[in-house]
Amino acid sequence: MAHALPALPYEFAALEPHIDAQTMQIHHGKHHQAYVNNVNAAIEKAPELASWSLDDLCRNIAKVPEAVRTAVRNNGGGHWNHSMFWQQMKTGGSEPSGKLADAITAAFGGVDGLKEKFAAAAAGRFGSGWAWVVASGGKLSIESTPNQDNPLMEGKNAILGLDVWEHAYYLKYQNRRPDYVAAWWNVVNWDDVAARYAAAR
Ligand code: MN
Repeated sequence: MAHALPALPYEFAALEPHIDAQTMQIHHGKHHQAYVNNVNAAIEKAPELASWSLDDLCRNIAKVPEAVRTAVRNNGGGHWNHSMFWQQMKTGGSEPSGKLADAITAAFGGVDGLKEKFAAAAAGRFGSGWAWVVASGGKLSIESTPNQDNPLMEGKNAILGLDVWEHAYYLKYQNRRPDYVAAWWNVVNWDDVAARYAAAR
């Protein structure tokens, strides 16, 4: 079955003023849709991939036929990353709690420490890519990836991801990527992060 664009779990304006409605509309309806269309086009050229889930495509990227591997990496990765990203935001945001909060304290001394390291990874990613919180054996670390790569392609569990492509912030923040990262914390859905953390344990 062909891959499909998931519906946003909220209105385009739900993350205002931190993420503006026009950015959300173009990001979801144009950019994410293009990743979906392009991964489907790649799979049409390699029909043996039609039965693979989106997770399978990322996790087993090295086993994807070479002729379509780059297209699947960029567009399957883009589809996976954005599908997660929409779920990780909500109106008004939230705060980490429970076992996730304990793990954050253990790894970073608290949520402020996490935000500081995460912001450095997001700002330091040259060009386009993503910043991530990764969970391994219950322990957390910060990573970043180029383009539409993701931790799943390296066999790792991403529990939080931030798109730092210019298309994610340029309309509102122009060249001020750090301002976008700082504002984004106001809409992070930590319940989603906690669920991914629990699943990764
Ligand atoms: Mn994006």
